[in-house]
Amino acid sequence: MATGATMESYDAVIVGAGFSGLYMLHRLRAQGLTARVYEAGTGVGGTWYWNRYPGARVDIESQEYSYSFSPELDAEWQWSERYATQPELLRYLNHVADRFDLRRDIQLETRVETARFDEASNRWTVTTDRGETITGRYCVMATGCLSVTNEPQFPGVDSFKGPSWHTGRWPRDGVDFTGQRVGVIGTGSSAIQSIPLIADQAAQVTVFQRTPNFSVPAHNGPVDPAVAKDWAENRAQRRAEAREAGFGIRMVDGQEAFAKEATPEERRAAYEARWAIGGFALLGAYGDLITDLEANATAVEFVADKIRSIVKDPATAEKLVPKTFPIGSKRLCVDTGYYDSFNRDNVSLVDLREEPIEAIVPTGIQTAHETYEVDAIVYAIGYDAMTGALGKIDIRGRGGATLKDRWAGGPGTYLGLMVAGFPNLFIVTGPGSPSVLCNMAVAIEQHVEWISDCIGYLSGRQLGAIEATQAAQDEWVAHVNEVADTTVYPLANSWYIGANIPGKPRVFMPYIGGFPVYRDKCNAVAANGYEGFTVSSDAR
Ligand code: NAP
Repeated sequence: MATGATMESYDAVIVGAGFSGLYMLHRLRAQGLTARVYEAGTGVGGTWYWNRYPGARVDIESQEYSYSFSPELDAEWQWSERYATQPELLRYLNHVADRFDLRRDIQLETRVETARFDEASNRWTVTTDRGETITGRYCVMATGCLSVTNEPQFPGVDSFKGPSWHTGRWPRDGVDFTGQRVGVIGTGSSAIQSIPLIADQAAQVTVFQRTPNFSVPAHNGPVDPAVAKDWAENRAQRRAEAREAGFGIRMVDGQEAFAKEATPEERRAAYEARWAIGGFALLGAYGDLITDLEANATAVEFVADKIRSIVKDPATAEKLVPKTFPIGSKRLCVDTGYYDSFNRDNVSLVDLREEPIEAIVPTGIQTAHETYEVDAIVYAIGYDAMTGALGKIDIRGRGGATLKDRWAGGPGTYLGLMVAGFPNLFIVTGPGSPSVLCNMAVAIEQHVEWISDCIGYLSGRQLGAIEATQAAQDEWVAHVNEVADTTVYPLANSWYIGANIPGKPRVFMPYIGGFPVYRDKCNAVAANGYEGFTVSSDAR
């Protein structure tokens, strides 16, 4: 692999080789363009490369959480489980990289450090931690929404004498917890997936919970042969259905019925039926669950009763029942045996609302009440979501302005795709797009296709640069907020609004207007000659 000072020119520089970067490269190549992908990991896969913690698996059914762009790829790849594990997803992404011969344009173990727009040439100059400097007419940030970990800031964090891991940076060779006392901090999706497996191995697991989360059963298992057959026979139709669903997921397709108009018996039956299906199906029971607090409270009550019925110790069950935010306003967790774990003799719960963590000490975790002695600590404390990865790169647009400064008060984008003042810089699933409130596979394909079509439009007409106008961006940001305010989402202290990172501006980042609405808007913008963008004709 080349290192040292080089200066190569490409049509596009792509940052990241996960779901987004791989498809971006494939699309641009198909258009006859040259591209270079930089990836920090030692392999491709992005999120699915880094998240190797025990129990890591997708929370959207495998068939839907995959690329749809190639019918051949779709037909030849068979998923083994309803919700694929991280190793299977990583195998899939490696297969995609091989099948489409992507690796020759991907440089691994290379972190992009700076990206600067040169106004004279309308090109981006990108530098890496290996000392390379390359230029691209376009720069595509395929850096992921949940790729920068929220690092533990507890006093004494480095004093712990045992090993500790963040779920988002798990060792490649795994961790053996046999016979160990393990402290797990956090109760989000990562913790909820990993705790049952860690408990299977460890001598003792102590779970440190700041805020209880809602979790629904995955009812995972081998892919039902009837489902596989249905997909094999109706794949194009099933894919189209997902693309017409608000969240890009067929089972959460918008319902006409409203919880508030149903009787308690009807609601219970509807929720029970969807609990039995598993996964996000519960949120699709009624059309008013995410827009109406009273309606939402009926689903909250249903899940609270489920928790109380599963967890045998009433005091522990009560601590596990979320009481401070509407269901769905934080990412719903999808689990296999999470609540049941608390019926085991070797799992206990510490409620950090009663006894906050004061410090990490050499022997364990010290709360306001006592020191819990542990041999290993798992930090399942999440990510600097949506803006974290972009903030790590020194990105400078027109006049040398930094993206970090531009976003100091919160991220502003036009359609989540581009930022005023940063011509020819595209973001895949950026803040202001449906991204994490959508099936990411659906959201990513739409973004990559829109971006590559846009690049094709520009290069086909010898156009030099495209840039979002400030007016269009301001209007879009206002719209994103306006739509969010019609829902229960802003009522939770979630990573969607940056509430999990101290000092991060509280701005609702993803677009909750629904994937089809958003896609239609993007298509209309393009069809109208890139409305809301300035396109300059000074190709060089
Ligand atoms: P997360 O949802 O942000 O959860 C982090 C947990 O750590 C929360 O319980 C949080 O408590 C706690 N925490 C953070 N800082 C803390 C502190 N200083 N002291 C004590 N507790 C602290 O992170 P995640 O579980 O990694 O999941 C992030 C997202 O990744 C998910 O929402 C989902 O979109 C995706 N994901 C998906 C899957 C899947 O099922 N496919 C699996 C993993 C992740 P508070 O709630 O009080 O902040």
